[in-house]
Amino acid sequence: MTTTRFAPSPTGYIHVGNLRTALMNYLIARKTGGTFILRLDDTDQERSKPEYIDGIKEDLDWLGLTWDRIEQQSKRLDRYGAVAEELRASGALYEVFETPTELDLKRKKLLNMGRPPVYDRAGLALSAAEKDRLRAGREGYWRFRLDQARTEWVDGILGPVSIDTASVSDPVLIRADGQVLYTFASSVDDIDMGISHVVRGADHVTNTATQIQIMRAMGGSAPAFAHHSLLTGPQGEGLSKRLGTLSLRDLRAQGVAKEALLSLMARLGSNQPVELKLSLDEIAAGFELSQFGAAPTKFDEADLWPLTRARNQALPFAAVRERIAAHGVPAHLAERFWAVVSKNITTLDELKDWAEIVLEGAEAVIDPEDAEFVATALQMLPEAPFTEATWGEWTAGVKAATGRKGRGLFMPLRRALTGREHGPEMADLMPLLQKVRARR
Ligand code: GLU
Repeated sequence: MTTTRFAPSPTGYIHVGNLRTALMNYLIARKTGGTFILRLDDTDQERSKPEYIDGIKEDLDWLGLTWDRIEQQSKRLDRYGAVAEELRASGALYEVFETPTELDLKRKKLLNMGRPPVYDRAGLALSAAEKDRLRAGREGYWRFRLDQARTEWVDGILGPVSIDTASVSDPVLIRADGQVLYTFASSVDDIDMGISHVVRGADHVTNTATQIQIMRAMGGSAPAFAHHSLLTGPQGEGLSKRLGTLSLRDLRAQGVAKEALLSLMARLGSNQPVELKLSLDEIAAGFELSQFGAAPTKFDEADLWPLTRARNQALPFAAVRERIAAHGVPAHLAERFWAVVSKNITTLDELKDWAEIVLEGAEAVIDPEDAEFVATALQMLPEAPFTEATWGEWTAGVKAATGRKGRGLFMPLRRALTGREHGPEMADLMPLLQKVRARR
């Protein structure tokens, strides 16, 4: 039985980077009829905020990435406490007392000697009496005793990985104030919740060796791990600083279609082409973790626009009927409005501009050298309502009267009526046009 989880820390909103993680875990569960858990890694009480929890749920809802179950680490503290007790009893967790300054000093000494700055395990050598004495002055905290051997796994994306934990400091799992750290809580959860597959960013590769050891110390067996490459900008530059502006809610506010985002993020970095897919079922059908590569993945938000455009232009009228009505387009014009205007929009917000143009008339754009020509032409324009024949008849008359033809004839008139250089066929647009502002 496949069980996956998406485990964001609610210390911020979801961005394109963690969307990849969410999506991959969701798709693996979806493909196999398994379970997808939304797990909130909120043991850091200071930085975790309820509004981010709401935000994360809202963003996943928007995308249709529904979870079968929700778990919250802050509600499982007793369980972590119980496991910690077992690990203390078995000697896997040991108490240490060094202050950050003392650790820093040790680190510098080792570096000066040309040795790797790995924690020296001084805590292990303390006698009960020494610990009592230290406890009088400061709180102890707890490190996990790594077995200093190679830890290996076959990564779903990276292939065989082998990490020598002798070069890794024994990680702190429980702080002096009792706060349980992510590395530990996550390992307990992955075992307790029967997680079969963990997909996450390559920044967690070193954690994986530690977590596999923690899980073994608990008597559990580790899930299958896969680490996807980190996203970079189009030039290969780091994205981490920009991720804040690449949050799903910002992209949504800019009008990015969810299908565009899902289609791009589910294939980017794989050997499959990015194509617009309209449903998660379709996306899941072609999804294979093994098709993703280890190299950093270039992400260019500009790629979202052609996909958004294709998505929106393919929407049936029924999907936009309400939106069009909300912009004031009368019902008898609405279907035609969509048929004519849809080919000229990228985001649905642009419908508002076109509604204004047809209902109120556009602010005319007239070059000084065209002013006289446009004035003459507008006098020849019949009163609204216009028909599909209006444009052809009108421009033929204007051509005969002024001698203008081609672009010199059509472009000034288009700009006078729509205020724009580009747009739908004017013959198709005319029957929608309720007012010609330029006439005034
Ligand atoms: N809360 C962790 C993160 O957001 C989860 C990592 C994991 O998937 O184990 O990085």
